[in-house]
Amino acid sequence: MQADRSEELTEEDIGHMLTVISTDGYYKQAMIVKVGCPVCFEEFLGTKRHAGGFIAGHRAYHEFDDKSNILMERA
Ligand SMILES: [Zn+2]
Repeated sequence: MQADRSEELTEEDIGHMLTVISTDGYYKQAMIVKVGCPVCFEEFLGTKRHAGGFIAGHRAYHEFDDKSNILMERA
């Protein structure tokens, strides 16, 4: 069992094709990308598959956070 390569990624890996072994599978020739959240500016470095999860997760989180703020203002 090999270690999760995504934990070893650095800025130098951006734009490179790597074979990444992750806990959820084996990514052959995966492009390493860096994405940032426009709301909280958190950054993520990893495969597009994981970047998609990061973006979707932040979108869901911030949408939830907005709604909870509205609820708090009404209370
Ligand atoms: Zn965010």
